[in-house]
Amino acid sequence: MERVQKNSAYLNAMSTTGTRTRVRDVNPQSGMCPICVSDCPFICEIALSTFRANEALYPETRYFGESTASSLKDYGLDWSHFNLLARLRGAEGIAPDPDVAIFPNVNVESKIGKTKVKFPLAMGAFGSTDVARRYWDGLAVGAALAGCILIIGENVCGVDPKSEFKNGRVVRSPEMERRVKKFKEFWDGKYGDIVVQVNVEDTRFGVYEYAVSKLEVDTVEIKWGQGAKAIGGEIRVRDLQRAIELKKRGYVVLPDPENPTVQQAFKDGIIDGFERHSRVGMPTEKSLVEFVEEIRDLGAKSVTLKTGAYRPADVA
Ligand code: SF4
Repeated sequence: MERVQKNSAYLNAMSTTGTRTRVRDVNPQSGMCPICVSDCPFICEIALSTFRANEALYPETRYFGESTASSLKDYGLDWSHFNLLARLRGAEGIAPDPDVAIFPNVNVESKIGKTKVKFPLAMGAFGSTDVARRYWDGLAVGAALAGCILIIGENVCGVDPKSEFKNGRVVRSPEMERRVKKFKEFWDGKYGDIVVQVNVEDTRFGVYEYAVSKLEVDTVEIKWGQGAKAIGGEIRVRDLQRAIELKKRGYVVLPDPENPTVQQAFKDGIIDGFERHSRVGMPTEKSLVEFVEEIRDLGAKSVTLKTGAYRPADVA
């Protein structure tokens, strides 16, 4: 903890990448030791990047599928800077009566768009990552019982090894089916909702059509981006044949699993897996309106939009 700095210095020594600096009084911008020595016994982020190049962009890969992540960046403002202050005279949302305005009568029912929720929360989106697949039951049952919105993220059909395609469109995905069914099993049908998100690849596969027509999903979320980065979702694949299959389905897979040199490097253990990237949409006003109309025509009750950290000129 003591090593995490408020300035950019933390970027050169992070637990997320298993990196450390030789000394503690590092440069506030680069995080480098003021004297960087040739016989340094430590691996800092800069040193790691020189050996492993863009692999150093990722958290320690051995935890993929077994972890979730938060950020080390200090924005200078956090929840501890806020105090919630209640009213003394009068009340909102309940009668101003000491016998009525009691703790067990608290009601936080609300509406998100057209969807009634017992608690104003939309959770997501949990896509094709191993961690989402492994812990899906807990998420689905919890969200359904709590009356919240749960969003199935991108690429679930595209990554499902048992998916069936016809003319490039998905006609069956046992994993997508399982996720929708588990939520509906515990859902009262009144509060909360199960939403299916679609990115560029999902749109090409017709995932929205499959979800609305075959799985009776009411809400589709169009994905424009992610909160943390203006690139598409990523997963790590540790099986060569699977990496090749995903490339053939149309995903960007790095390094190229069909390249013989890469295949040999994988067999020799020089690389321990492949990155599967998905694309970022480049919508226009016209294409968005037409897409929303197409989804509604299939029978979806709501269409939502997930955007990323884009400039206000594009999304405001
Ligand atoms: S390589 Fe240089 S900057 Fe990195 S930890 Fe070692 S001495 Fe410090």
